[in-house]
Amino acid sequence: MSKVANFWETEQDQKVNCLLCPHHCSIAPGKSGICRVRKNEAGVLIARTFARVSAVNFDPIEKKPLYHFYPGQSILSLGSVGCNFHCLFCQNWEISQVDPDHFPLQKMSPSEAVDLANTRNSIGLAYTYNEPFIWWEYVHETAELAKKSQLKNVLVTNGFVETKPLQELLPLIDAMNIDLKSMENSFYRKYCGGELEPVIRTIETSYQFGVHIELTNLLIPGLNEEEEQLVKLVDWVSTLSPDIPLHFSRYFPAYRLSSGLPTSLSMLERAYRIAREKLSFVYLGNVADQKGSTTFCPSCQQPVIIRRGYAVDKAGLDGANCRFCGTSLPIVV
Ligand code: SF4
Repeated sequence: MSKVANFWETEQDQKVNCLLCPHHCSIAPGKSGICRVRKNEAGVLIARTFARVSAVNFDPIEKKPLYHFYPGQSILSLGSVGCNFHCLFCQNWEISQVDPDHFPLQKMSPSEAVDLANTRNSIGLAYTYNEPFIWWEYVHETAELAKKSQLKNVLVTNGFVETKPLQELLPLIDAMNIDLKSMENSFYRKYCGGELEPVIRTIETSYQFGVHIELTNLLIPGLNEEEEQLVKLVDWVSTLSPDIPLHFSRYFPAYRLSSGLPTSLSMLERAYRIAREKLSFVYLGNVADQKGSTTFCPSCQQPVIIRRGYAVDKAGLDGANCRFCGTSLPIVV
């Protein structure tokens, strides 16, 4: 299934210019853009992965990761293929770096997705696994239907999108986990094939719009875990809000950086310590670490949510308040 895409204009010689993300690909007839999923067919830009999914699972919301948005609940998680980044360290490269014609995609219409999300106590739909913004038409149509059905919509994204498509989608989106890979533009250019500034703009715009935001930083040995870089990142997040949860994720060698080392536990611990100086909620992911997976009340420091794997103990919460000291916490329950 495919659909005429949004956000493009025609150029000379049947070329089209895609305006969905800051790459602004100029695409000749028969060719696809950098993301591989938007193709020029005889002068018309086609969204090739509309209603075509690569993975469908009911995941714990913690797996997105979102730790402050309906903790302990399940969410229908859908992904397709393609990405507008080409991160050399991609942890999902089997689906992000593949052409839609070379992957066994399953059909799932927006209404089928919403019907499924209405089962098994799911709080809604997460558009995840690969980059959801390049799936804009499907995400928009499905999210609109989901909203009418009182379901929540979640994006797990690299944040690399143009302002107009972002603003058109935001009213339908309840929560986002956005990757903030580094505060160095050179990192985005060299290792991801992208730019930092649009990502920053997406985080700021979405946060100011009122969407629940959590951030993830994949700590890659030798590339982005220097103390100076972490301090810069943490400082920026704290300026936006010290209450935004920041997840440091443990890296395992993958894709084109498969010869490197996983993030060491001491590196994760150092990142946690640096971030906790400025941020109220810091987490360590892809690693079994009790402190790094616990939510502490920023007022009394008592553990309010304890996570063991995906088992969630919310005994320290009274609604969205700390049961120990009564402080109101920025947690959607
Ligand atoms: S969404 Fe895809 S085709 Fe469009 S500009 Fe971005 S990478 Fe290029």
